[in-house]
Amino acid sequence: MEEIVYTIVNFLMSGTEYQTFCKCAKCRRDIIALSLNKLPSHYVTTDEGRNRIYEQLNTPENRQWINKRIISAIHVIGKYPQHDTK
Ligand SMILES: [Zn+2]
Repeated sequence: MEEIVYTIVNFLMSGTEYQTFCKCAKCRRDIIALSLNKLPSHYVTTDEGRNRIYEQLNTPENRQWINKRIISAIHVIGKYPQHDTK
């Protein structure tokens, strides 16, 4: 799940839609952490398990569901950045 969220966050943040949001490393990490807190972790211990979960999560419905949570995290962090806006 962490890999998927990481990929999606970087993808969304590089798009034009989120141009106005802070893209520093701290905000990205906060967005990823906040998203992960709202999503099931799906920890796995083997590569085989990882591939299985990845396939399970990588369906259009699941990706849309994950996207929604990430987008809400982007907005929360964008509104209340965890650092000074100097
Ligand atoms: Zn920032």
